[in-house]
Amino acid sequence: MDWEVDEEHTSSQCSIPSRKEKHLMVYHAQTPQGKPIRLLKTLLSSACERDCFYCPFRAGRDQARATFHPEEFARLFLQLYRAGIADGLFLSSGIVGGGVRTQDKLLDTAEILRLKFGFRGYLHLKFMPGAERDQVLRAMQLANRVSINLEAPNAARLAQLAPHKGFFDELLQPLQWAEQIRRSQPAHQAWQGQWPSTATQFVLGAAGESDRELLQTTEWLFHSLKLSRVYYSPFRPIPDTPLENAPPANLLRQRRLYQASFLLRDYGFRLSELLFGPEANLPLEIDPKKAYADQHLREAPLEINRASLDQLLRVPGIGPKGARRILQACRERSLNDLSQLQKLGIEVRRAAPYVLLNGRRPLRQLSFWGLSPA
Ligand code: SF4
Repeated sequence: MDWEVDEEHTSSQCSIPSRKEKHLMVYHAQTPQGKPIRLLKTLLSSACERDCFYCPFRAGRDQARATFHPEEFARLFLQLYRAGIADGLFLSSGIVGGGVRTQDKLLDTAEILRLKFGFRGYLHLKFMPGAERDQVLRAMQLANRVSINLEAPNAARLAQLAPHKGFFDELLQPLQWAEQIRRSQPAHQAWQGQWPSTATQFVLGAAGESDRELLQTTEWLFHSLKLSRVYYSPFRPIPDTPLENAPPANLLRQRRLYQASFLLRDYGFRLSELLFGPEANLPLEIDPKKAYADQHLREAPLEINRASLDQLLRVPGIGPKGARRILQACRERSLNDLSQLQKLGIEVRRAAPYVLLNGRRPLRQLSFWGLSPA
């Protein structure tokens, strides 16, 4: 079972029977194969000694708090698991007594679940700010995914959101250690013989950061630290916090950032190929891949029969699987019309304006089919 889980596709909270139920949330998530899993996303403690400007759990805010002991929480989760309410666990915590001590509590909980209760399902563990290298290693020996939220794309932006968090020493360092460990230590030390994937999250739209800043850091995280996912969590103002009067983030901006980040991660795009507006933000009105294609391929369409993988991946409507199918097909025969591309799983309405098939633009074929380009 591949336990990489797409936690971006989480929705549909379920109700959980518990006296602490408002601190427990079950979301529907997906494995890469599309298999649904129910993911309990929760905090071991909603008390926190830090004061991040955007956070409902910040110190000093009037907010009900609850703290679980590791064994108490592990038993509770196991009940939910056995009752078929949750299949997997995403466990984080507010910070109490420092990041190292809080990380120990998370590790204790994970060890009880894995070693004492024999839980073999999906486990996403958070690194706490300031966690030590040995703790990072231990988390990686127990979890399927590990993560820490960078919150902002650089130290200057973080200072506007969470002035008491250290961008490099507290947040980035655990991700760097995780990648060093994956590279240098044999995977048989890891849970089920596979080192966990790593992820991070930014708060979107609360620190005046541009899309270029976010994507510059995203690109570096994908290439240098081999992160599997970078999440952009849209800022929502919380009453009784320093940012309570700041506007919420635009959800279309979030969508464009995800599209751009997938181009960087899966399509071989470089940041320099993305189109940014005057304020270094992606245009909201156009998909970033279409913006690239309009600029580079509309006047000089790509000959499909002679294209490389990299070139195919720059055409709207052609994804990594479709591109490989085209390359395979071209080894056997020449592709002359859109119906052949359609059979290979290509979205021909999106691709047609940017390609040639044996030297001919296939746009007219679309009109024969009664279709216009998407
Ligand atoms: S450390 Fe985490 S829980 Fe604590 S205030 Fe900051 S974001 Fe909230």
